[in-house]
Amino acid sequence: MKLDGVELLRVRMPLVAPFRTSFGTQDVRELLLVRVVTPTGEGWGKCGAMAGPVYSSEYVDGAEHVLRNFLVPALLAADDVTAHKVAPLLAGYKGHRMAKAALEMAVLDAELRAHGQSFARALGSTRDSVPCGVSVGIMDSVPQLLDVVGGYLDEGYVRIKLKIEPGWDVEPVRAVRERFGDDVLLQVDANTAYTLADAPVLARLDPFGLLLIEQPLDEEDILGHAELARRVRTPICLDESIVSARSAADAITLGACAIVNIKPGRVGGYLEARRVHDVCAAHGIPVWCGGMIETGLGRAANVALASLPGFTLPGDTSASDRFYRTDITEPFVLKDGHLPVPTGPGLGVAPVPDLLAAVTTTKVWLGS
Ligand SMILES: [Mg+2]
Repeated sequence: MKLDGVELLRVRMPLVAPFRTSFGTQDVRELLLVRVVTPTGEGWGKCGAMAGPVYSSEYVDGAEHVLRNFLVPALLAADDVTAHKVAPLLAGYKGHRMAKAALEMAVLDAELRAHGQSFARALGSTRDSVPCGVSVGIMDSVPQLLDVVGGYLDEGYVRIKLKIEPGWDVEPVRAVRERFGDDVLLQVDANTAYTLADAPVLARLDPFGLLLIEQPLDEEDILGHAELARRVRTPICLDESIVSARSAADAITLGACAIVNIKPGRVGGYLEARRVHDVCAAHGIPVWCGGMIETGLGRAANVALASLPGFTLPGDTSASDRFYRTDITEPFVLKDGHLPVPTGPGLGVAPVPDLLAAVTTTKVWLGS
């Protein structure tokens, strides 16, 4: 199909509570959305980039700039655009995976809507619902953490992930285990905050039976993760380090991870995310779906992805009210710890015009 145009929307959504990780605290989600318009309809995509380059090198202003000046013009110049052609059409531009992923997601949504097929079906879904975990930020105190974790368990979340950093690791994990017991599925995420010299501290997490330690070391330190894996019993999971199916294959081969967190934006889109899933499945490596403080758009696509057979661990596919009082789509509501996989064409959800308008700060139209 030939694209008529692409709209870039900046939105600003307050979070229900500040979300603190080892790289900083967020209380508002600055977000870039992409709407592609074709002769037969439209499609929506979202960019995972945050306001600053603190999770990865990408950030919202940079993503908008590269989309406006390079990526969108490349697609508008093409006579035939399909979701599978987006990555080859953009391959001349290095990096910027989250920006590329947003564009590909919107094209895929438009294409699937035109064909009456859901994301889940197109990606290879085998389930109608997915079990949901929740990511719990770093708190000011252990009692505050226990209150928050208790609240999420009451809501039905089937797995708890604690964000950790040096000085906030062993004690919060111990406290959660002591209060809520050994049966709670529990894991931790360091977002690159440690070095290999911290191996003895991380080994002190071993007695708590965690599902995994996520991305303890620098994103480029693949051999460091492999060495750490020999020094701790808790399985190592990589997030920031995995930017493609190829990097997943490398990390697995080098023994740097036993589990992989798949975030479509980080790897350049849902089609590459599917390939990461396939590589991991071929190696017997479990995967789960991460999140980037998603709105309903990203949530819908992530829940579809998480319903593929290799996603054997609960993801950070939490309900809309985990982060937002009001989502921009119809809200995703947790039921018995699960979210239903959308079945409608494309994402199966779309922004509610009034809700989107209320949080949109700027719009740019590119095209005819
Ligand atoms: Mg992570």
